[in-house]
Amino acid sequence: MKQNFDIVIIGGGLAGLSCGIVAAKKGKRCAIISTGESALSFSSGSFDLLGGLSDGELLAAVNGLPANHPYKKLCAAEENFESHVWRAENFLNMAGVSMNGGYKKPHYRVTPVGNFAKTWLSAQGLLTLENENVLPFKSAAIFSPAGLLDFYPTFVAEQLNGKCVTTEKFTFYLKDKKPLGRTPFSLLVGRGLSSSLRRKRSPVEMRSVNMAELFDRNISTLAKIINRQKSKSEVILIPALIGLFDVLKSKVKKPLYMIATMPPSVPGIAIANTLKKAFLTAGGTLIENKEVIGSTLNGQKVEGVQYADGAVFADKFVLATGGFFSKGLKSTLDTVKESIFDLDISFGGVSSFDGVSSFDGVSSALTVSLLPEREQWFSKKVLDPQPYMKFGIRTDNNFKAIKNGTLLENLYVIGAGLEGFDALEEGCGAGVSLLTGLCVGERL
Ligand SMILES: Cc1cc2nc3c(=O)[nH]c(=O)nc-3n(C[C@H](O)[C@H](O)[C@H](O)COP(=O)(O)OP(=O)(O)OC[C@H]3O[C@@H](n4cnc5c(N)ncnc54)[C@H](O)[C@@H]3O)c2cc1C
Repeated sequence: MKQNFDIVIIGGGLAGLSCGIVAAKKGKRCAIISTGESALSFSSGSFDLLGGLSDGELLAAVNGLPANHPYKKLCAAEENFESHVWRAENFLNMAGVSMNGGYKKPHYRVTPVGNFAKTWLSAQGLLTLENENVLPFKSAAIFSPAGLLDFYPTFVAEQLNGKCVTTEKFTFYLKDKKPLGRTPFSLLVGRGLSSSLRRKRSPVEMRSVNMAELFDRNISTLAKIINRQKSKSEVILIPALIGLFDVLKSKVKKPLYMIATMPPSVPGIAIANTLKKAFLTAGGTLIENKEVIGSTLNGQKVEGVQYADGAVFADKFVLATGGFFSKGLKSTLDTVKESIFDLDISFGGVSSFDGVSSFDGVSSALTVSLLPEREQWFSKKVLDPQPYMKFGIRTDNNFKAIKNGTLLENLYVIGAGLEGFDALEEGCGAGVSLLTGLCVGERL
């Protein structure tokens, strides 16, 4: 099947969806082709901008970034970085994604193991703190289904105890023989985890996504379980398994907060679903479960891309296939490649293209030698920043792709696959994907 669009975006993660919503709202005939889950489904449910910095500190840090960092490219045109951030916050509101925090209100989120990490925006319902040393409560009851594989109440309790918060833990379990629709779970207090583990039917059922489906279907029962317990604590904490958080909150008699689980991430999946809905509402076409496997180029212009049982043609294309995690970048023993167009890659200061670039962009200065040997891609200390995170796709300041040192006329790159940054070390993953997605979407 052949289809024609104004714009085709390859990759439906945070970057691709944000770009697509903006383009479709401008009246462009826009398609997103994507395969698999995006990084959102495995994320914390919080968006990092740049190491939890805000205001003046943030702007100074952005000024100090290297010229090929995506944030520096956003500022290369007349707009300042702050205006991109404001626009991103407004965009999320407009798209129906409810987040707490903001550029002026950075905050701490609680990680699945109970640590505190500074961030930019957090999905509604997640416990967030203005100050990591001052908690807004002195006692908390942690409720969790027994045998859940993605949440560790003991770690969370220990970290909270370290901040002078008294904690109580309540575990409830699924009843084996009752029909799930009627009496799905009952309260289990004072029994060990091992006995409840024996009762579970299959390990797959005890993952956060399966639990979320069950709880959303039985939200009143869950509220009853929480309310029935004679907890003396000021607030109730639950793992982030609740899609219908507002409904549960309205039924629970004490202040209620969620704590992120290990992946998969229910808040992240909810954000992805809301963005998909906004894209479809704006008139976009979502082609899901299709992997783009080839492209047709005419000179420096992309004409079309192919997937197993079809092809799409467009005036403009946007590559939003992510980094190594999503296979937008692939490594072999001696090099790293961009998967679809074989675009030029950079690593720190050097490029995969060993020649002179024929355009005037910041990246042309990087064309000095071949990529370094494989031993230099890794640090042997697992928790150190890993150099391989600095591999990325070269672009000019307008995020136009470069192949063999020459700009492609109608192919843009956004999101996690871009050159010039390390999302983990710098704490800027979602910020780069969202801000570059919106910027390119507006300019198309
Ligand atoms: C596991 C994980 C957790 C993270 N958690 C956080 C977090 O909590 N906070 C934060 O700020 N940042 C986090 N990040 C950083 C993350 O990169 C960004 O937050 C952001 O979500 C990435 O979005 P993206 O759209 O650029 O790429 P991705 O989310 O990777 O999306 C790319 C999409 O393109 C698809 N695709 C790839 N190749 C093809 C092809 N050939 N054809 C069709 N489709 C294709 C992929 O399957 C995927 O769906 C995390 C990253 C990872 C890997």
